[in-house]
Amino acid sequence: MTGKPTSVDDQLVAMNEALVVAGIRQHELTEQAKKLNEQLQGEINVRKNSEEALRQAQAQLADRASQLEGLVTERTAKLQELVGELEAFSYGITHDLRAPLRAMQSFAHLLEEDYSAKLDDVGRSYLHRIASAASRMDKLVQDTLVYSHVLRVDLRRESVDAEKLLRDMFESYPDFQEPKAEVIIEGRLPAVQANEAALTQCFSNLLNNAIKFVAPGTKPRVRISADYRGEMVRFWVADNGIGIAERHWGKIFGMFQRLDTSYEGTGIGLTIVRKAMERMGGTVGVESEPGQGSRFWLELKPADNRKNA
Ligand code: ADP
Repeated sequence: MTGKPTSVDDQLVAMNEALVVAGIRQHELTEQAKKLNEQLQGEINVRKNSEEALRQAQAQLADRASQLEGLVTERTAKLQELVGELEAFSYGITHDLRAPLRAMQSFAHLLEEDYSAKLDDVGRSYLHRIASAASRMDKLVQDTLVYSHVLRVDLRRESVDAEKLLRDMFESYPDFQEPKAEVIIEGRLPAVQANEAALTQCFSNLLNNAIKFVAPGTKPRVRISADYRGEMVRFWVADNGIGIAERHWGKIFGMFQRLDTSYEGTGIGLTIVRKAMERMGGTVGVESEPGQGSRFWLELKPADNRKNA
């Protein structure tokens, strides 16, 4: 007799079916995993290739960079050499210009001394113009030489006693003394890190301007003082001169810039100051108002390199 399958049979059949399904599923999953693996391997290969290409590109780049660096160093050296030659050349020419100039000056002087009586007023005025043009040119040549010296020379820095430097300067120049001018140091001036010759040049140029640019008939009065700006020392040179409008404050430090040609000058003095200060790690500037005098300043590191308490 046939009977109904027992529940155990049912369960066996069901388990069998489940096993078959699981087997199929496992096969599908294995296939999928294989595919994924292959895909991943493909991606890994692509990535490896890209990394290799990147490494090669980086190596090429580093190679190129070092070639360029070499080229820049080589060209910079050539340029420096060329600039040095040009500077030496212009220095030489400028220097040699002084000999014929001195000849012009001394012959004009001889003419004035020995032949003045033989000339009429027009002749004497021409002679006077020749002499003053020659001495103006001589001043230009001298200033150009000082500028070129400031550009070229090694401005080694040391501790410079600014007060002593200025007092020595006053002693050697009658133009900075009574009765010609009243030049006073206010307070005690500190020592700074500077090149003594270059700092002397800077103060000398500022002081010469301070006593020169006064209204006619005015006795020059100059006050020199110092204060601290952060870690820097600022020297002030204040005058009672004709003053400078704010729009010209920057311009006057440029080469050949002169605001009033009725005063003698070459327009190089402040350019020398700016360049010398720059080369000593300092700065220069001015505050002024027309008719109210000017306050020029020089800023440098103090010799002891400490802030003032
Ligand atoms: P220079 O004195 O030979 O003319 P500088 O370069 O020293 O040349 O000065 C440039 C210009 O700046 C001067 O011609 C003048 O117009 C102006 N200047 C400089 N110092 C002063 C000052 N203390 N007071 C007024 N003007 C000044």
